[in-house]
This record gives sequence, structure tokens and C-alpha cells, in this order.
Amino acid sequence: MTKRTKAILDKLDEVYTREYKCYLDHETPWQLLIATMLSAQCTDARVNIVTKELFKKYDTVEKFANADLKELEQDIKPTGFYHNKAKNIISCTNTLMEKYNGEVPDSLEDLTALAGVGRKTANVIRGNIFNQPSIVVDTHVKRISKRLGLTKEDDPEKVEFELMKVLPKDHWILYNIQIITFGRQICFARGPKCEECFLTDYCLEYKEKNKKKKIKK
Ligand code: SF4
Repeated sequence: MTKRTKAILDKLDEVYTREYKCYLDHETPWQLLIATMLSAQCTDARVNIVTKELFKKYDTVEKFANADLKELEQDIKPTGFYHNKAKNIISCTNTLMEKYNGEVPDSLEDLTALAGVGRKTANVIRGNIFNQPSIVVDTHVKRISKRLGLTKEDDPEKVEFELMKVLPKDHWILYNIQIITFGRQICFARGPKCEECFLTDYCLEYKEKNKKKKIKK
């Protein structure tokens, strides 16, 4: 790990601590799997509102597997893209019942073979449920890692591989948790609060903005 990367991680640890937390409410691995599937193109807050009732109505994997498609679509409608999400949830939970006895598998290969489960969802499960070092590349991680010069890539899978090279394994899960908090509180996609930021010394975008300001003067 370079000195620069270590300095960024030290700052993140200092401000956000090394506490693990998951933004999606769940009590079981399969609930986190479904909540993560629902979170595509939707805020975690909205998913948590929807799953509060959803997990009461469908309180087992089996009930999701046997759900009526149209009814499930209506149940998850507020999360958007509900036709595809409902179809994938039914197919995915059927596979869980048929192949894994209703349990959630832990390998990246088995997880990504499930309907509607990509690397991001698989890594959420591996990190949060099975405590296996994994880097989740969501919109915050992608945007902020680029601003901080930790990656040059745009494609989430390439970002994940670049971050795996530059971040120490004990920070893989933590980095995602800290960066999501940072992205929600300070480093917004539009209009980031740079004046409140504790990472200005490492931010390429901030340096670029300042350079332009100086040239204008
Ligand atoms: S300086 Fe601004 S753009 Fe850069 S990391 Fe901080 S908040 Fe984000």
C-alpha cells in the first residue's frame, strides 16, 4: 500500500471509525440478498420502507419462491424496475430452494449464477454475511475512488479489480461502508461540500478546480 493510500484510509478510519454496519435492514442472509436486489436504482431508505412490510408478508424463502408474480410486483413497486426485480426474486429463491435447501451460498461463482445477482450483490452478501474480504462498487465508491485517484476506471468490475490491488484486504469491506457515509454526508455527486471535506489534500477533482480558479484570476 502506498503512503498516499494509507493516509486516505487513516483519515477515513479517524472520522468514521472502523465500525461495520449495513445500510439495508435484514435479519437473515436471504433477506439481505433480496433487499440488495431491490436496491438497484433505488435508495436504501426506500428499500427499508418496502422490506419492512414485505418480509412480514413473505417470511420464508419458500414464500418468495411460490409468490404470485403480479402480486409481488405490486408489493415491491416503489423500488422501481419492479417487473424485472419480481421475476428475478422468484427465480432466485426457487434456485435457493432447489439447490441450496433454502440457504444462501457463499461463493462468488454460486451467488452470481443466481437470477438478478451480479458482482455487487454477491460482494454485499460475501462481506456482510460471510465476512469474506470483498469490495462492493456502488455509485459512491465508483465516483469517490476516482476523485481520490484510487482508480481511473468507470466500469464497476474494473474499479473493483483496481481497488483490490491498492487497498489492503482488511479495508475491503470497511472502505465501502466509510465511502458510502462520506458520499452521503460530504462528497455528493453534484455540489460536493468540499469546504467541509477532510480529504481535499488527496482529491484530484479539488486540485483541478483550484487550478482553474487560479488561471481565471
Ligand atoms: S474535495 Fe470535494 S470532491 Fe474531493 S473528495 Fe472532498 S468533497 Fe469530494
